[in-house]
Amino acid sequence: MSKTLALEVKNLSVEFDTYGGVVKAVRDVSFQLNKGETLAIVGESGCGKSVTVQSIMGLIPTPPGRITSGSAKLDGEEMLGLPTKLLNQYRGKRISMIFQDAMSAMNPTMTVGKQIAETLVVHQNLSRRQAMKEAVDLLARTKIPEPEQRAKQYPFEFSGGMLQRAMIAMSIACKPEVLIADEPTTALDVTIQAQILNLLQDLQKEYELSIVLITHDLGVVAKMAHQVAVMYAGQIVEMGEIDDIFYHSRHPYTAGLKAAMPSNKAHEQDLKVIEGSPPDLFSPPKGCGFCARCDYAMSICEQRPTPKFQISGDHYAHCWLLHPEAPKSERQKLDSFMKSERSDVT
Ligand code: SF4
Repeated sequence: MSKTLALEVKNLSVEFDTYGGVVKAVRDVSFQLNKGETLAIVGESGCGKSVTVQSIMGLIPTPPGRITSGSAKLDGEEMLGLPTKLLNQYRGKRISMIFQDAMSAMNPTMTVGKQIAETLVVHQNLSRRQAMKEAVDLLARTKIPEPEQRAKQYPFEFSGGMLQRAMIAMSIACKPEVLIADEPTTALDVTIQAQILNLLQDLQKEYELSIVLITHDLGVVAKMAHQVAVMYAGQIVEMGEIDDIFYHSRHPYTAGLKAAMPSNKAHEQDLKVIEGSPPDLFSPPKGCGFCARCDYAMSICEQRPTPKFQISGDHYAHCWLLHPEAPKSERQKLDSFMKSERSDVT
């Protein structure tokens, strides 16, 4: 069965002016999200994950930020460059976002119920009474006990997990086509994290939601994602279906991320780390951004930008090791590293 696109981002680049110079935070990022599926964007802090989705939502402060190129189409309709008034017709209604820190994302001076109802009044033209009734219903759907009482409370009266549920209730109020979840469970303990992820999965089925999930947690990716985009230094370095990334990844950075995942054997051995730090995005490297940290780097990696190599179907990676003329010895070295790690991942 052919898949329908919910969101298509092409060649997105974003820069920020700072006192130290221009930071090239997102560089030529492209991805597609299928309807009803979850695309996880993973990578370490500062790799451009959040800036990518904030640009799509029109949340980049301009100045100092600016989108220098690219397009983001929601069900075929361009979102980038829309005037705020038009963009507001999309945000909350057709595409919405949940944030890592629900407490700062919500208005502390309004009750939770009123905040959810506000979205419905603005986008669905409901009366205040109807919107409030719907808000209580949404709180119940997100499994908040005693929703009628809870709707009358302020954010500070909620626990972290409950507040995250309330924000999810607000974000799905208008039944959006796309939900962007930016590290939605990072601030929560593991039990609540599992509950929130289960809730998102249930809502995805119920509303046929397409989800972009930003995370640095590969455990969350394994549970939630259909597709995965691995970002490093403002670029997508590998992308594919979940099994492609977990069992057939071809990029040394993806291999390093997987090796750094805590496993059941973690107590028996030291946790692996990727030595070094990401490049300076004031002047990104001419060649591969991962070069300085890569155990397989060749001279071409430093000199020439890494092209996109297709591995199979929708699985591709940007790495010179995938060039047909790359030295076999380096490829074999990576292969044997990944084989030794695979038993831990499975
Ligand atoms: Fe390593 Fe070269 Fe591949 Fe970059 S292009 S990840 S430096 S092998």
